[in-house]
Amino acid sequence: MKRTLHWFRRDLRLHDNTALRQAVDSAEEVIPVYVISEWKGEHRWTGPNRQEFLCQSLAELAERIEQAGGRLIFRQGNAVRELALLVKETKAEAVYFNRDPDPFGREVEEELVRVGAAQGFEVRACKDACLHERDEVLTGSSEPYRVFTPYSRAWAKLPKDKPVARVSKLRTPGGIRSESVPTLETWRIALDAQVIAGGEDAARKRMAALVASGLASYGAVRDRLDLSGTSRLSQDLRYGLISIRELFGRCREKMETLPATQRDNAAKYVGELIWREFYQQILWHYPEVLEDSFNPKFRGMRWKSDPAAFDRWCAGETGFPVVDAAMRQLAQTGFMHNRARMITAMFLTKDLHIDWREGEAYFMRQLTDGEIASNNGGWQWSAGTGADAAPYFRIQNPWTQSARFDPDAAYIKQWVPELRDLPAEKLHVAPASGLPIALGYPAPMIDHATEREWTLQMFAKHQGAT
Ligand code: FAD
Repeated sequence: MKRTLHWFRRDLRLHDNTALRQAVDSAEEVIPVYVISEWKGEHRWTGPNRQEFLCQSLAELAERIEQAGGRLIFRQGNAVRELALLVKETKAEAVYFNRDPDPFGREVEEELVRVGAAQGFEVRACKDACLHERDEVLTGSSEPYRVFTPYSRAWAKLPKDKPVARVSKLRTPGGIRSESVPTLETWRIALDAQVIAGGEDAARKRMAALVASGLASYGAVRDRLDLSGTSRLSQDLRYGLISIRELFGRCREKMETLPATQRDNAAKYVGELIWREFYQQILWHYPEVLEDSFNPKFRGMRWKSDPAAFDRWCAGETGFPVVDAAMRQLAQTGFMHNRARMITAMFLTKDLHIDWREGEAYFMRQLTDGEIASNNGGWQWSAGTGADAAPYFRIQNPWTQSARFDPDAAYIKQWVPELRDLPAEKLHVAPASGLPIALGYPAPMIDHATEREWTLQMFAKHQGAT
């Protein structure tokens, strides 16, 4: 009887799962396995919010697999060692998995291929996390794109894979040792945020809501901080609770039924999915972005280290209402609106002049959707060092940003209760020098116009020096 392992990673679903489908089709018995990472104490790149979402999603996946007739096996420790052991114990012939787009995942995959070759089991890797990966979208001279717009045009022209059938039946042999479904206790960490519901069912409901109603207005409302105008699917794509093929296919179908203005709104949504893949391919081709500026002109810039200012930014105590609302939203929910991510990231880098890598790591620890390619891309874009035409001298003014994207200050008031009784107009203008906007709320920690000048000079000096 042929046995195969399916190694679950960022693909925690039974619908349209490329490697799982192939594993089930290739063998009579399938051993689905998730290897729980070992993690002691603080982690630079992760935190309780994402782990809680992961645990909820794994618990549901285990249930769904049981309903399909199988059993999800949990092992803990080094992934390659655990998989190799499990292959031996179960006499499986192969390990199937979906490729992870980031360099850490890639390293583990390469190691598994080496161990598989040495021990004589097959290792089968599939594309699943994106529609186009690695070298699929290249310039006319076979180079990776460094700028988004031409990348997105080339991306859009390529044919797209169709979803594969949901796995509704699988058989797992009995008697295999398994750890229990992980909980935050597994890593001895505690949660103090209210994170979005995990699991494939909740994610599919969010996807259905987007297609039914959100898509048609997306482009018109996506930037508004005070409206629920975005899909809230980022963590679902991050953990593969929904498939990008199905999401893209459903969007495209829906777009055909929409009148022109609404179709344009929906096209903006597809554009965001392309940004996600753009940043994945940047990380694939230029993994050094995790350490340094993507734009070589800005390598070696002297950013500040200012722990006290950084702590005020993290705590949402900067005295800038929209920045504080966003940072508190992040701390309390593990999520932050995209516009707010740009505002807070620019504030840290261009008003406080703090190294974008500090903000990047903080976001990775807090965000339920924390994904190193998009997060790094977003941070470098905001810092002015990234893969984009957005020049460093584009410096958003937090006061005018909040007036534009939170006109009634509903977002600010939701997250900064100290400001609830103030009229919106007061929350979108800098108070007279050194004064707080309201009693019990800090005075703005810097003057935006002064710091903007400082940033312009910092970039100009650096360019002059290189
Ligand atoms: P929607 O507006 O509904 O967008 C649809 C989908 O497109 C998202 O779910 C996401 O998968 C993708 N997407 C949207 N905007 C971007 C973008 N700018 N870059 C790449 N993909 C995008 N996104 C993450 O998924 N993980 C991160 O760790 C992350 N960190 C960020 C850090 C900064 C500083 C910035 C400026 C942006 C970051 N983003 C990140 C991108 C974006 O903010 C989030 O994807 C979005 O806010 C998630 O909400 P949503 O699902 O409702 O988005």
